[in-house]
Amino acid sequence: MGYDPNNIFAKILRGEMPCHKIYEDQETFAFLDIMPRAKGHTLVLPKKPAVNMFDVHPDSLCAVIRTVRLLTPIIKSAMGADGVVIQQYNEAAAGQTVFHLHFHIIPRYQGVPLKHHGTTPQQDEILAQNAAAIRAALEKAGL
Ligand code: 5GP
Repeated sequence: MGYDPNNIFAKILRGEMPCHKIYEDQETFAFLDIMPRAKGHTLVLPKKPAVNMFDVHPDSLCAVIRTVRLLTPIIKSAMGADGVVIQQYNEAAAGQTVFHLHFHIIPRYQGVPLKHHGTTPQQDEILAQNAAAIRAALEKAGL
């Protein structure tokens, strides 16, 4: 399957759909998942089109992983999490539902089970609060 420029994340990247953005640089973009598996669940994308691991340019992939590395400790601390899971799905058979490459940063809280993948929409107000807390922590870190 080729890249569909009308997938939801392409629309978010073009500013045609809203999101709770937390970070952006020249090559990457990060925002909160609207169906978070845990508080602070964040998605990190390359700006360049790529369906998944099978077609992404290595330079683009490096940029995304750099951003994941940059954001993960700040999200963990801002959300008061105890640990973090990093996930990335390739193809529908593996659980991929949006076909623009992305990494999931999922904070984990001791004793709190993860919600199911992509099933429970979070209230916009709560997403806005979590995004504001993460952005404030990023700003404090000079980002
Ligand atoms: P995938 O299964 O492709 O790895 O994950 C796609 C993720 O995108 C899911 O966790 C799902 O909750 C999230 N998602 C789907 N549609 C939207 C949307 O319109 N906005 C945001 N922020 N997240 C979305």
